[in-house]
Amino acid sequence: MGARTLFDKVWTAHEVVPETADTPAVLYVDLHLIHEVTSPQAFSVLKSLDLRVRRPDRTLATMDHSTPTVSDQVFGKIPIKVDAAAKQVRQLESNAAEFGVELFDMRDARRGIVHVISPELGCTQPGMTIVCGDSHTSTHGAFGALAFGIGTTEVGHVFATQCLLQRKPKTFAVNVEGELRPGVTAKDLILHIIGRIGVSGGTGHVLEYRGSTIRALSMDERMTICNMSIEAGARAGMVAPDETTFEYLKGKPRAPQGAEWNAAVARWRALCSDPDARFDASVDIDASTLEPMITYGTNPGMVMPLGGAIPEITGNAVYDKALGYMGFHGGEVMLGKPVDVVFIGSCTNGRLADLTAAAGILKGRKVAAGVKLLIVPGSQQVKRAAEELGLAQIFKDAGADWRESGCSMCLGMNGDTVGAGQYSVSTSNRNFEGRQGVGARTLLVSPLTAAATAVRGRIADPREFS
Ligand code: SF4
Repeated sequence: MGARTLFDKVWTAHEVVPETADTPAVLYVDLHLIHEVTSPQAFSVLKSLDLRVRRPDRTLATMDHSTPTVSDQVFGKIPIKVDAAAKQVRQLESNAAEFGVELFDMRDARRGIVHVISPELGCTQPGMTIVCGDSHTSTHGAFGALAFGIGTTEVGHVFATQCLLQRKPKTFAVNVEGELRPGVTAKDLILHIIGRIGVSGGTGHVLEYRGSTIRALSMDERMTICNMSIEAGARAGMVAPDETTFEYLKGKPRAPQGAEWNAAVARWRALCSDPDARFDASVDIDASTLEPMITYGTNPGMVMPLGGAIPEITGNAVYDKALGYMGFHGGEVMLGKPVDVVFIGSCTNGRLADLTAAAGILKGRKVAAGVKLLIVPGSQQVKRAAEELGLAQIFKDAGADWRESGCSMCLGMNGDTVGAGQYSVSTSNRNFEGRQGVGARTLLVSPLTAAATAVRGRIADPREFS
């Protein structure tokens, strides 16, 4: 067998039937993550066909997208305000019980955003195939898993067969070398990569993030990188597992234990691209020159260094429409622009490392008058850790709103929304029109830039605080 990429190794190990010119491959799925929004229709199909979930032991359910983040609603003191959300929560409870699927429900201490809880429980492991009815399933690729989002119809297919029909993607090496400068984070790096290759640059490919910069990142940072692979149009993003990965997973409740752990690590060590493996595409990134980044338009590829000016582009209808929506024009400087809302959270930047970074700036400072700062942990486990470490108190003392876990303001479907025309500086992953609420204007940044902006009340450079 010739030299193979990490992706090739994981793909081949899960190929039940290889693809042909006329038919896609049949791919085995190791872990199927589900949530309340994209599962109801798939469960209905199972019921109509009198089918069961084939592998409930490889299926895990949580509630995150439409769930409220206000404690009284989460814990049932008062009803969930958004009717559609209340219905989806009840529906998932009943479907999980009927089909024997493990569910982390609203009161469960392990509940949280699907892409945060699976890694922190040790369910996400190197070499797995992982799917979920959510685009940002690419997050799990940080562990050397092949993980991607699927549609509602495919959720039904995986329920019934534990397999998926898939065309084999191409491979794309993203080689990143150099040390990130102070104040420049994994979020800035992935925003730069998306800006460089474009929102369609990864279409049809699986990105493998490689190089000394990636090796130096923590698992939380690697998850931030892989999370946004989909924003470059890629099917998935992957990082080869290494000691950082094993250290993160060791002792996690659902990770292999004892002798099984040693055997698993021995297997996982082989999960890397062979030295002479060939990729279908590649890009080289010098991380040492990067600045903190910020988006100015309505897709994550419309991104620029924080201290720069919005590019001036003529004859581009997408650019014109985006800037019209955002209320910006070419040549404007972003630093110093007033904002209305700052959101720190989501499956991109709602982990403990993100909250710790934000707390470093917010400690002993106040949120600027007239600015709403919402901080939403990615999981209840992150919430408890942040409270035990005193981060939550720092946030509250600063005047932030500290909530229960969930997708919250990443998308406007759970009651946490940004008003029409308001500017929101957000650590989430999508700045599409209306993503955070009808007419909301989203600027994607790192947790450091978000915290600095909340303190100033204007778009601010976190390096001013160092
Ligand atoms: S936080 Fe946003 S991107 Fe992540 S799972 Fe929730 S809705 Fe999807």
